[in-house]
Amino acid sequence: MSRYQKSSELFQKANQVLVGGVNSPVRAFKSVGRHPLFIDKAHGAHLYDVDGHAYIDYVLTWGPAILGHAPAAVIQAVQKAAETGTSFGAPCEAEIELAELVRGHCPHIEKVRFVSSGTEATMSALRLARGITGRDKMIKFEGCYHGHGDSFLVKAGSGVLTLGLPDSPGVPASLAQLTLNAPYNDLNAVEALLKAHDDEVACIIVEPVAGNMGCVAPLPEFLHGLRTLCDRYGALLIFDEVMTGFRVARGGASERFGVEPDITCYGKVVGGGLPVGAFGGRQAVMSNLAPEGPVYQAGTLSGNPLAMAAGVETLKALGADGFYQHFEVIGEQLTTGLQRVADKYGIPFSTTRLGSMFGFCFRSEPPTCFSDVKEANIEQFKAFFWGMLEEGVYFAPSAFEAGFLSVAHSSSLVEDTCAAADRVMAQLV
Ligand SMILES: *Cc1c(COP(=O)(O)O)cnc(C)c1O
Repeated sequence: MSRYQKSSELFQKANQVLVGGVNSPVRAFKSVGRHPLFIDKAHGAHLYDVDGHAYIDYVLTWGPAILGHAPAAVIQAVQKAAETGTSFGAPCEAEIELAELVRGHCPHIEKVRFVSSGTEATMSALRLARGITGRDKMIKFEGCYHGHGDSFLVKAGSGVLTLGLPDSPGVPASLAQLTLNAPYNDLNAVEALLKAHDDEVACIIVEPVAGNMGCVAPLPEFLHGLRTLCDRYGALLIFDEVMTGFRVARGGASERFGVEPDITCYGKVVGGGLPVGAFGGRQAVMSNLAPEGPVYQAGTLSGNPLAMAAGVETLKALGADGFYQHFEVIGEQLTTGLQRVADKYGIPFSTTRLGSMFGFCFRSEPPTCFSDVKEANIEQFKAFFWGMLEEGVYFAPSAFEAGFLSVAHSSSLVEDTCAAADRVMAQLV
């Protein structure tokens, strides 16, 4: 009997009816070379698989579960909302409440539009930027992931990297031509593109902390520099805060780095584990969107009452005093703890952390762009991943993903994680 027998059987069954056995590619564990675990339930900082193992979870459903899994307030609110109808296709009060909470945490957002995923948020933000500027081109960064919209699947991160598909078939070449790529943290490359395509670039879209090629922090001048370049060349600045929003600080990367984009995209935490995305900005920008303006965007399940209820309870909880301080304490404990273990065994290793988002890389210097990320030792990562899984620690099944912390992650769980890492890394050398 394999340790993961039931998962293995379910995966075989899943493969009969689901493409690749999953509904989102990274879940298939392809980049770590074996079948995925099927999850039975999740609570607090823990995941439980169908074979009866418990794991300290650092994936947290890829970011949303900042309160830990199944927090009582969110569950109750969703149950209560469900009893009065799961969808109206008409306005409901919870939409106002969630929009007010977004604005309360992120003061540069005056108006917001809710959608059902991060992908929808970035696609719509791009259309809005194109509609406002009357320009078609866009600049993005190598290794950044902005969901699976056609225009973004050019040198993208996350699952696209994992599967080694630099571009996806099905994206028209004529559309891909409008997507210009620069290396992350390289302002000179951005300016060269803006000069070469003068008056044609509608927007620059960036993950203000990159979390889909591992975790890559912006260099001190990078985000301010993008703001300046956008103003100089008449392009709009879009922060894709689907991952960083409400995570790297209450007001996201925008607050943390003191840079105000024209449009901000949210997802993940904003829905507290239900399908929600959002994009927003100043009234002058957002007023271009239908029904106030001509740029079309719509959704049958947008502002869904169940999803809004989960978002409301989650964003309310973030307002608590000391909420973000917790991450400074346990986050530092985790990254320094892992680093100490790697150093002990002489393994080239580095960590990155901003608030409740972190990354580690089997390379001695923290990466600053995608070409750095590619230099990491992937074989060591795979061995570490499986070793940690056996020890009861669930990291993302790919070297190109960030890790996350929740308020349910205690100092003693982090200590257990570092002790497990010591046993696993001892085997790597
Ligand atoms: C997850 C993610 C998206 C896509 O969000 P989905 O809800 O998966 O569509 C977009 N941008 C960033 C930065 C993300 O991390």
